[in-house]
Amino acid sequence: MNIPDIIIAIDGYSSTGKSTLAKLIAEEYSFLYLDSGAMYRGVTLHALENGIIDSDGAIDEERLKEALKTLDLDFRTDGTYIGDRGVERDIRTLEVSSHVSPISAIPFVRSFVDERLHAFGLRKRVVMDGRDIGTTVFPEAEIKIFMTARPEVRAQRRFDEMEAKGQNPVMEEVMKNLLERDYIDSHRETSPLSRAADAYVLDNSDMTLHEETVWFQGLAQGKFGILE
Ligand code: C5P
Repeated sequence: MNIPDIIIAIDGYSSTGKSTLAKLIAEEYSFLYLDSGAMYRGVTLHALENGIIDSDGAIDEERLKEALKTLDLDFRTDGTYIGDRGVERDIRTLEVSSHVSPISAIPFVRSFVDERLHAFGLRKRVVMDGRDIGTTVFPEAEIKIFMTARPEVRAQRRFDEMEAKGQNPVMEEVMKNLLERDYIDSHRETSPLSRAADAYVLDNSDMTLHEETVWFQGLAQGKFGILE
């Protein structure tokens, strides 16, 4: 099946498998996959490493604003980079996860990231996942998906993912982080996580990956009238 050059926006709650589905779509239909959360995680890592977030979690916004002026944050084929340093692994720790939502609620951080995301969107044929892609970043996206799943299913997925990476997750902490991020992400003033009116909802609590891809195929076929 061929899909035209469009933008596919996948938003939803934390650990609903947005990136897994996005990567599968990218592979199957030769789209460029972009993980917008990685940008917010990159900013957070940079802030943590430069003492811009103190031990109580307070953010020095003036210093952060200054730091963003020279922060060279980029996506390459093998992941997220700060300058020449690959940070894909460092941005996935629980420490970064526990500070990323307050950082991404800051309007000038969102402008910094949006500017970079828009540059990628110019190419079209992009599948991007995040929290506000279908509502704010690319409201014109031709396909919008909003993903959700039961919290216990999501926490287990994140737990397994962290364990597989050699980290030592504690289930209560993973669940707490998930719920906290969902709360902050959906209640912030600037571009909160919310379903675009024209987004298709996918609750994958009880679905296999294969079922999700079949669901997507049906959606794309319906949308573009394409038959195999
Ligand atoms: O997708 P991921 O869980 O890696 O995103 C990390 C965090 O980045 C989210 O919890 C959210 O605070 C922020 N984010 C956002 N807008 C996006 C993508 C991510 O605010 N488009």
